[in-house]
Amino acid sequence: MVVMVTGGAGYIGSHAVLALRRAGYDVVVYDNLSRGFAEALQGEAFAGVPLEVGDVGDRRRVREVIDKYGVEAVLHFAALAQVAESVEQPARYFRNNTLQGLDLVETLLDAGVRTLIFSSTAAVYGEPERVPIPEDHPERPTNPYGRSKLAFEFILESLAVARGLRYAALRYFNVAGADPEGQAGERHQPETHLIPLILAAALDHHPVRIFGTDYPTPDGTCIRDYVHVTDLVEAHLLALRKLIEGQPRVPAVTTAAGVAETASGGCRLVYNLGSEKGYSVREVIQAAERVIGMPIQTEIAPRRPGDPAVLVASSERIRRELGWAPRYGLEEMLATAWAWHQAHR
Ligand code: UDP
Repeated sequence: MVVMVTGGAGYIGSHAVLALRRAGYDVVVYDNLSRGFAEALQGEAFAGVPLEVGDVGDRRRVREVIDKYGVEAVLHFAALAQVAESVEQPARYFRNNTLQGLDLVETLLDAGVRTLIFSSTAAVYGEPERVPIPEDHPERPTNPYGRSKLAFEFILESLAVARGLRYAALRYFNVAGADPEGQAGERHQPETHLIPLILAAALDHHPVRIFGTDYPTPDGTCIRDYVHVTDLVEAHLLALRKLIEGQPRVPAVTTAAGVAETASGGCRLVYNLGSEKGYSVREVIQAAERVIGMPIQTEIAPRRPGDPAVLVASSERIRRELGWAPRYGLEEMLATAWAWHQAHR
């Protein structure tokens, strides 16, 4: 089967390419290289994976690539994903993540490609009413990034009903770590994520900032649910298989389990992806000190606007329905990320 990976030159996308290849799929990467890097696809594990450069909103180009390779399913990672940037430039986020996403999915349907896995986010929930957060938690995103992703989920749901789209929306919590075999890793420009910033601080001997120490948590710092990128992409493969199998077939409405099969043959799966364990910023720093065996300097900084105190997933639904089980813990996320950072600084 031929799978197109949009955003395949990015952090999560490149790990998805590896997982697909290792599982025997043929892969084509579609990326505009605005946030991804062509070098991410240069390791031997990527040999023979074509990189097609283009925007997901460029309908002609997307159609050309679908026809050229006989694309049968799409993993859609291409997106802008920085909360602070989305607050400053909301139109850019809606244009890129929502409107161009619509261009992509209509082009796919017009070409007869009905299977799509979408990288959504825990940001669709906003400030949680309760933790752990299940998929039926109210969706009240507090920033344009989360809203742009939720708006696209609504588009997908409507197209599943009207045009037989078969999709999974996977809502990521905090993704971290690198390929345990060292073939891919995390690189963002600029980097805003806690774990790579901690590792860079250790390598360059400067302090890492702790954004807020007065949250209502045991040590005053924010608690997040970190999930290893390799476990995360494995969930995409499980969802893809489920959509290809076409099971389960249930009538036209969304069930409590979040699965709907429509008269048009469409299908909707919505799953949270998290480890269900919360770690505070201070706990992550302490774990990093243990893993890398050196002290990490810290500096207390003000709260980052829009950061909820605690975000922890309930991933019970995907565990039960697809048998997903994350294999790597926080220390393995740090160790694999550390190996990658040292090799690619
Ligand atoms: N954080 C921090 N210092 C940093 C970067 C992040 O204290 O330099 C905190 C941030 O406030 C949040 C957690 O680390 O509570 C995870 O942030 P990240 O940006 O990695 O992911 P997010 O939760 O925003 O998706």
